[in-house]
Amino acid sequence: MLREHRYQCPCCDYFVLEARGFHQVCPVCCWEDDGIDVDTLDAVSKSNHITLRQARANFAEFGASDQAALSLAATAEQIAGLRREYRARG
Ligand SMILES: [Zn+2]
Repeated sequence: MLREHRYQCPCCDYFVLEARGFHQVCPVCCWEDDGIDVDTLDAVSKSNHITLRQARANFAEFGASDQAALSLAATAEQIAGLRREYRARG
């Protein structure tokens, strides 16, 4: 199981980030946290090369922020028990 942290990933909504905006790669969905949050869903992320809206849709569909990151994304067992608060904005 992954460790829980204080900050919520803007893509998968799990609380797994140690800080915000420091380019930590989310261990659940592999979104690189460049500081974009759910209030800027349609800006193309320089780090991730897609919009957060697209990444969130990808995570909902197949469990990773991007198809290329799918093999690195967490498994269902790894995220079991982690806190998540789904944010449906935009
Ligand atoms: Zn994530």
